[in-house]
Amino acid sequence: MLSPSAKQQPAASNTRTTHRLLALVVAMALGTSAALWWTLRQAQDLAQPHQQNDLWYIASVHNELARVSLLARQLRAREASAQDLVDRLDVLYSTLDTSGRGPRVSTQLREALPDTAQGLDGLRTQVERWSSQASGSANEPGSTAARRTQATAAPTQALRVAEDITRQSDALLERLRQAVATVHLFSTQQTDQARQQLHQRFIVLSVVLSALLVGTTLLIARLVQDARAAKAASRQLAQTNRELEDRVARRTRKLEESRALLGFILDTSPSDVLLAEVESGRVHFINHRLTERLGLRTAPQTLFLPDLLHDPDTRQRFMQTLDQYGQVDAMEAQIGTHAPRWSSLSARLIDVEGQLAHLLWGFDISTHKALEAQLRELATRDALSGLLNRRAFMERSTALFDHCRRHGQPCTVLMIDIDHFKRINDRYGHQMGDTAIRACAEAIGQALREADLLGRLGGEEFAALLPHASADSARQVAERIRGAIAQLGLASPAGHPVTFTISIGMAASERHHTGIEPLMADADAALYRAKAAGRNRVLTHDAAHPAL
Ligand code: GH3
Ligand code: MG
Ligand code: MG
Repeated sequence: MLSPSAKQQPAASNTRTTHRLLALVVAMALGTSAALWWTLRQAQDLAQPHQQNDLWYIASVHNELARVSLLARQLRAREASAQDLVDRLDVLYSTLDTSGRGPRVSTQLREALPDTAQGLDGLRTQVERWSSQASGSANEPGSTAARRTQATAAPTQALRVAEDITRQSDALLERLRQAVATVHLFSTQQTDQARQQLHQRFIVLSVVLSALLVGTTLLIARLVQDARAAKAASRQLAQTNRELEDRVARRTRKLEESRALLGFILDTSPSDVLLAEVESGRVHFINHRLTERLGLRTAPQTLFLPDLLHDPDTRQRFMQTLDQYGQVDAMEAQIGTHAPRWSSLSARLIDVEGQLAHLLWGFDISTHKALEAQLRELATRDALSGLLNRRAFMERSTALFDHCRRHGQPCTVLMIDIDHFKRINDRYGHQMGDTAIRACAEAIGQALREADLLGRLGGEEFAALLPHASADSARQVAERIRGAIAQLGLASPAGHPVTFTISIGMAASERHHTGIEPLMADADAALYRAKAAGRNRVLTHDAAHPAL
């Protein structure tokens, strides 16, 4: 395939050739015009037979001289009057010089045949002299024909003039006859020469015309060739255009199909997908799943990524990371405004059509999160009683104690232990022991407030933290618990009634309690004393009996 520049070169050369041919044809046309003009001029010259004028003029002079000669003879024979001779001489004179300035021979003749011209000049002078003598006037050179015409004839002088004319006329007539022949010959030569020149000019004209014809033919051929080439190029261009359009259409179709496929994939994918401009929030793409998750029926026109993030702290962290590094990977966040759901979000800062845009991918992890919360909850609970286990109780009671301490609020710890639990196990079996633990946990829970914390520390031992509770109110609660346990009407698998009691050690927070542990230690010391004192009782921590 030729490159565009390679194609342009022959085209430019073609145009140059055409221009050269055109210039040649114009030059040939001008040349033809010049040759034609030149030839016409020659033809025009030929059309003016001035040589014939000379011939006619000399013949007229000859005829007039012959009449004068005849009249001179008649005068001598007394057959004509002197006046006739004078008149005849005047006619001859006027034939020789109608303008009064001399014989009317052409300049051409005068130059080509000077002898003949001089002969005529001499004849004119002679005729003028005869005329003057015949009319009896003095021979005045330069006298006009008019004056001579008015003169009257002098018979004697006219007779002498007639003799003189008779004597010279034959020689003069002979000379005039020779002049006629010479002029005739001269004019014939001139005509031949002019004809030959005309012939040569016609040859030149023919050559120029032939060249013009050839040039014109070449130009027409070139123009036809150019027109064909232009037509072919135009056809080829149209064909190329068609192919290009087809290719573009195919590409566009493929692109649309790819887009549709990509849209389908993204729409049916289990992920949330969003592509929106950073500045304007213009949504380039949002899949159905995310649209539905946002509680929308149709895809929004604008959406700002930060608005999707529910939690302000997470939003700030997410956007800060995205702005700083241009990407965020698998960050857990809640998206949506009405019913936010947990998602694992990844985002990229990309350029779309010259604008910065956010590309967001999210995987719904709300189920996973619920499960995780469930597991976490399970990890905090005691499987048998459903109460907080020791670790969870310690964590939460620590936080609650710190909260109360910060706000200057009192709180009280109850340490609860079933009395002689081992006997229940021993007497009714381990399962009955479990039942007793569960029943005890439930009874203690029912006696506490919502805000109180209760946990099973292990075996048949429980602990409760009562925030905002003074020692008196806590004691009442503890007594209520003790009474409730004593009232429990459990029965063994064999149907025997099973009763048991609990002992409770109690300690209210004081200034020196810097944490939950010392407070629990004090309550434990009180419990120890309650056991020692006979069990089934509530004892408050006494400074006199410090924890061990
Ligand atoms: P005291 O009045 O001094 O508290 O005596 P006690 O028998 O209650 O206490 P002791 O520490 O001697 O016995 C506790 C028993 O509780 C020992 C153990 O086998 C039993 N025990 C611990 N955990 C469980 C449990 O989850 N289920 C059952 N059924 N028994 C348990
Ligand atoms: Mg016990
Ligand atoms: Mg115990």
